Parts: sequence; structure tokens; C-alpha cells
Amino acid sequence: MPESENATTSAPFSIDDSPIARELADLTSRRKVLDDVELEFDGKTRIITVSNQKGGVGKTTTTVNIASALASVGARVLVIDLDPQGNASTALGVPHTAEIPSVYDVLIDEFPLADIVQTSPESPRLFCAPSTIHLAGAEIELVSQVAREHRLRTALEEYIQASEEPVDFVLIDCPPSLGLLTINAFTAASEVMIPIQCEYYALEGLSQLLGSVRMIQKHLNPRLHLSTILLTMFDGRTRLAQQVADEVRNHFPQEVLRTVIPRSVRVSEAPSFGQTVIAYDGQSAGAVAYREAAVEMVKRTQAHSTKEGAS
Ligand code: ADP
Ligand code: MG
Repeated sequence: MPESENATTSAPFSIDDSPIARELADLTSRRKVLDDVELEFDGKTRIITVSNQKGGVGKTTTTVNIASALASVGARVLVIDLDPQGNASTALGVPHTAEIPSVYDVLIDEFPLADIVQTSPESPRLFCAPSTIHLAGAEIELVSQVAREHRLRTALEEYIQASEEPVDFVLIDCPPSLGLLTINAFTAASEVMIPIQCEYYALEGLSQLLGSVRMIQKHLNPRLHLSTILLTMFDGRTRLAQQVADEVRNHFPQEVLRTVIPRSVRVSEAPSFGQTVIAYDGQSAGAVAYREAAVEMVKRTQAHSTKEGAS
């Protein structure tokens, strides 16, 4: 066989057709779609608590990246860091050493939220109420306080009312437990967002979390509902990840976002530079996925409210 013919028959294996090339082409077209997105916000505040009593499932990563992605499409966003570890504050580039006024002072000493909120260097529309190490003691100190479950809610209501420009989103990053800090988040929010890691035992503990949400609904906050589930750290090469994703979608067809966040080194590197992945490498696969998830969250509710308005 002449060599030239051989070259054409081997074309299906050319570099342009490799999985990596296809992935890159796909990413390019997804970026293009994102660049053309135009969103409007109606001035109402959506308060979303990002919860899962498991640690290491992507709560903080999801909170800061969705927040930054929302700010990048024009929303004004406040992140409340309720985890004493302060990882959300770090990722947003906001100082949170022990002497800095923090959420602790709001919950325990009734500081106005406006006094502790800082602007993230990432965007003039992105704000953070930082956590400091003192917050570790708040879980215990709150027990003896008056209106201990409502403190965050009251502070947040005052903040939103006094704010000169509308606050479009409040995202609350919860610690991995169902103590008084998380209860304060559940009482202040109307939506619960659950990041689920596409690995073994993903659904384990979820019924406990949903049981807590129902308890809060009944006794403290009837508005609270599970609005969003986000599949994170998805590794498309394993069949297990796909199985977990399918299982979660079967259980929660309405709540699971179509967008899935891939496992990505860029996502895990970003916090060590005091940045979200949106700022650190906004064109990377992880950043594109978080930007898509944020757009989907905005569009889904707009679709819901149009339907409600029409009925
Ligand atoms: P949580 O707040 O639930 O404890 P984190 O958001 O801190 O979880 O994530 C746990 C770890 O996983 C962190 O080291 C984080 O950088 C990493 N991680 C989170 N999401 C991803 C991702 N999509 N790809 C790679 N690493 C991730
Ligand atoms: Mg966390």
C-alpha cells in the first residue's frame, strides 16, 4: 500500500480527534456561550446556605466559586463565612486574623454585619463577612444567648435593608456539623444548596441533613427548602462517579443542576493564592463549570418564577 493512502486511512487516529482535542474544542464553545450570557437581577435577595454535614465534600469551594462567578456576571454577592476554619475568607482574599472583627462579633456581641463585611479584592461586587478562630467558641457561647437561633437572620435582615444597592445573593458557608452555627444559617436562609462529592457513600448522611432541614422548616423557618444539589469533584474516567451521579439524579430530579463540577487541580490550587478559581484561572475547566453552574442557578429560578407568575 502506498504511504499516502496509509496516511488517510489512519486519519481517525489523528491528534484532532483525540479525546483531549475534543474536550478542548468543547471547552472553547462552552466559554463562548458563557461570554454571551446576559443576566438581569430583580433586586430581590436570594439567601442560600451551602450545607452538608460531611467535611471535604466541596462546600467552601462551591460557596466561593459560585459567589465569584455570580459577581462576574453582574450580581452583588455577600459570602458569610460561618466555618471557624475561615477557608472561605482565605479563598476570597479577605484578612481574617484573630484581631479582625468577624462573624463572631455579629453573633455574640451583636455588631452590625456592615461593620465587619469586607470587599474581596476579586470584585467590587463581591463581599465577605469573615470568620476568625474565635468562631470556634461561638458554638458553645451561643447556647446561653437569647434568640440564639435567630442572631444571624436578624443581622442579615438589617444589613440587606440598610444596604444602598440591592444584595442579589447571600451565600453562607457552613461548618461540617449540625450545631448552632449551622442552625443560624438555616434560620437565616430560604434555600439550601448541597454539594455532593461523586464518590463512595455520597448519599450517606443526606437523609439526616434533610431531616434537619424539615425540623427547621417546622419550628424555626417555614421558607427553608432544598433548592439545589451540585455534583462536585466528578472524575469522568471512573464508572463509580457516573453511577453516583445517576443515583443522585434519580433521587432528586428537580434539584440537581445539569452542570457537574469536574475534579480539577486548578480548583484546588486557587485558595493557596487567596483566590477563587474564577480569578485564578477563569478559562480552566473547573472555572468554566462553576460559571455555568452559577448561570444555571440564576436561570432556573427565573424560569420557576415565570411559571408561577403565569399560573
Ligand atoms: P468542605 O468545605 O466541604 O470541607 P472544601 O471545599 O474545603 O470542602 O474541599 C475539600 C478539598 O477538596 C479542598 O482541598 C479543595 O481544594 C478540594 N476540592 C474541592 N473541589 C475540588 C475540585 N472540583 N477539584 C479538585 N479539588 C477540589
Ligand atoms: Mg469548608
